[in-house]
Amino acid sequence: MMSNVEIIRWLESLKSEIGKQNNHYLWNYEEAIDNAIEALYTEPKIGVWVLKQGWDYCCSCCGEESGLDETDVFVYGMKLPNYCPNCGAKMESRKNE
Ligand SMILES: [Zn+2]
Repeated sequence: MMSNVEIIRWLESLKSEIGKQNNHYLWNYEEAIDNAIEALYTEPKIGVWVLKQGWDYCCSCCGEESGLDETDVFVYGMKLPNYCPNCGAKMESRKNE
């Protein structure tokens, strides 16, 4: 598996190859590569599912609801997602608030 630094180097060289084409149809690709590089530099967010009283479990990073409440999880055994579908934070555990 490539490290992030190796992937960034590879993306930079890909971008420079695209730049040499001087083809405006490829501008979107350059932008997409820039976004990918930025994402690789960004530390992954770590969050927890927080149970608000009478509410769904919410992401501690962005506050978005998971769509599951206490009954879903404890009575029906439904699993909270490992990643927040809204902000992409990796979820470690859950706690009550
Ligand atoms: Zn979130």
